[in-house]
Amino acid sequence: MENQFVQITSQNCHNCGASIQISSNTDNLKCEYCETQIRILRPVKMNEESMVGKLNDEDMKKYRNMLTILENSMKAGNFKEGYDYCNKALEVDPTSSEIWENKAICSFWLSTKRDVFSSQAKEIVTYLNTAKSYDANSKTLPITSKNIAWDLYSLGYIWLHTTPKMQNGGFLWTDIDKMFEYVKLWDTAFDIYNETHFLKEAVIEFTVADGAVVNWLDKGVLQKYPLTQKLKDTYIKKIQKIEPSYVPPKKKGFCFIATATMGSYDHPEVMELRNFRDNWILEKNWGEGFVTWYYHYGSIAAKFIEKSLVLKRICYLLIVKPLVYLTRIVKFK
Ligand SMILES: [Zn+2]
Repeated sequence: MENQFVQITSQNCHNCGASIQISSNTDNLKCEYCETQIRILRPVKMNEESMVGKLNDEDMKKYRNMLTILENSMKAGNFKEGYDYCNKALEVDPTSSEIWENKAICSFWLSTKRDVFSSQAKEIVTYLNTAKSYDANSKTLPITSKNIAWDLYSLGYIWLHTTPKMQNGGFLWTDIDKMFEYVKLWDTAFDIYNETHFLKEAVIEFTVADGAVVNWLDKGVLQKYPLTQKLKDTYIKKIQKIEPSYVPPKKKGFCFIATATMGSYDHPEVMELRNFRDNWILEKNWGEGFVTWYYHYGSIAAKFIEKSLVLKRICYLLIVKPLVYLTRIVKFK
């Protein structure tokens, strides 16, 4: 199988661009500069066999040259040229699985910028699927697909977790939009290679607040709450199709003040307020705006309350208790 791939001695880190030496046969490396997890993407070896007898000598010679340039440019890391030559070669043989596979690899490398999102990454999925349709038994395609999927995942991961914060600890709105796209990249990775880990991580990100990216919900992303919920449900369903016993992690960190006051997220009165928020407040026209506002100020207040026993008592009597009382009245209406 190894000999169906072109051997390469180095590959650039798709995050920081550093050149990584490939000394062994491994597919899995870590960039020593930015710590990004890297899967090696080796170009697929080309041969002109499929066109033997279909082209005259001169055209055959041209085609052979085309494939050589294709292979060499990919080997040298020139994926723009590689991509162009894939297209030229596909004009001669549109049914070559290997060319479509190499086109997918080039397309991945042309997509490794922070402003390239799941929509562009979908192109890669199309090329891989086309490659599969022309050779369902390809030996190289499963390896390439798996490695591209992991590379897309680790790119989205490093981008998400290195999104710069503003001085107040929040994110820029434009960055928040991008962060959503990074998480959606994991869904694309899953389409390429059914690794449930990708989607489980996405569910954690969307379970927010105490999750891996603590701040990105309480700083305003809640306006996207319905979208978050919809995506999360889709991901959970996809995971459960493969792992029926999968239980998504519990929501955490909502109701900051109540949680801080009661000292526990699972306290019955906190749970009561949480249900109130999900089933009553968020149903109202003003609900989302209010919850967004609350997320901003509530999280700030919670940090102070957490540290003070006196504040905890005061908040319990003046905020939590009346709120719980209020939710009970509303429920009975
Ligand atoms: Zn790097």
